[in-house]
Amino acid sequence: MENRVYNFNPGPATLPLSVLQTIQEELLNYKGEGLSILEMSHRSKTFDKIVDDAMDAVKKVMGFGDDYTVLFLQGGATAQFAAVPLNLALPGKPALYVNTGSWSKKAIAEAKKLSIEPTVIASSEDQNFNYIPTSFEIDPNASYLHITSNNTIFGTQWQEYPKTGDVPLVADMSSDLYCRRFDPNQFALIYAGAQKNAGPAGVTIVIVRNDLLERSHDDIPTILNYKIFAEKKSLYNTPNCFGIYVVGLVMQWILDQGGIDKVEAVNRKKAELLYQTLDSTDFYRPTARPDSRSIMNVTFRLPNEDLEKQFVAEAAKNGMVGLKGHRSVGGIRASIYNAMPLEGVEALVQFMKEFERKNG
Ligand SMILES: *Cc1c(COP(=O)(O)O)cnc(C)c1O
Repeated sequence: MENRVYNFNPGPATLPLSVLQTIQEELLNYKGEGLSILEMSHRSKTFDKIVDDAMDAVKKVMGFGDDYTVLFLQGGATAQFAAVPLNLALPGKPALYVNTGSWSKKAIAEAKKLSIEPTVIASSEDQNFNYIPTSFEIDPNASYLHITSNNTIFGTQWQEYPKTGDVPLVADMSSDLYCRRFDPNQFALIYAGAQKNAGPAGVTIVIVRNDLLERSHDDIPTILNYKIFAEKKSLYNTPNCFGIYVVGLVMQWILDQGGIDKVEAVNRKKAELLYQTLDSTDFYRPTARPDSRSIMNVTFRLPNEDLEKQFVAEAAKNGMVGLKGHRSVGGIRASIYNAMPLEGVEALVQFMKEFERKNG
């Protein structure tokens, strides 16, 4: 489509064009009802169906069974940093965390504020978070183990999830839910702000195993109480109606692509192409250790910061935006979520080669 750029922003991020077109078509008059989804009551039958369908699709894409419940919440992944310990920590049973970067740190800090003393069982801070730790002990008496499946800022991703036995595994999957297949039954709870790989900002997807809901007690603030939101089908109060609608459309888009395996295959191809380009020269220096590389956020450096600035500016001139690394780490980051087409990555690689030729 004319005038649209390749959007490599980390989140809010690129959405499938066909989803945006559906939104546009349906915006003024949702399925002949004479009003917009933006104006519709969240207690209407029509919206009820939108929520039901979106919840079903959120599970169907990954193969979650009836023993899991989907919640659509607000407050971003950041609210979940507090909700997880509030709902899941049990007295006398430690809350375990693996620290793989800025978002893990924030999750740990939030647990501390709630006086749920988190136990950090492994960290990659010693190497500026360029890898995922693989050896650590999991106390079998723990309330849960929390991991960040993909580290959006540092460009690392768990390749294999830890085996936790009976200890519930909780994952912040904000930037890689729906990028690849995994066994859903490994997880007790997954959460993700939708704005990276699953929809627009303002709605958070939580997928929780039903038995965990029994841990939510009455004195947890209602807005963070998993059990109440499960009982009310996420309609305890007014939800992000529009966001839920778009998440439903994105889930349907994944299914229309042929499902998660097809989407994963394209994602792997895109990431391979980028990493191959990075590995084939000394001009670009990928920051994540090869065994921990993310297929969603590809981070790298150039010989100096001036060249990095120039790279970002020239890429933008060539229709590729959002490539600046997170302000806390600098460098370049290409976020290549599901909706980034292969052609976008091919264009970037082409640009990178040209940029190196001129400046290397
Ligand atoms: C973006 C991000 C967050 C923060 O999400 P908000 O929705 O802005 O609260 C948390 N964790 C990870 C892994 C992220 O990528």
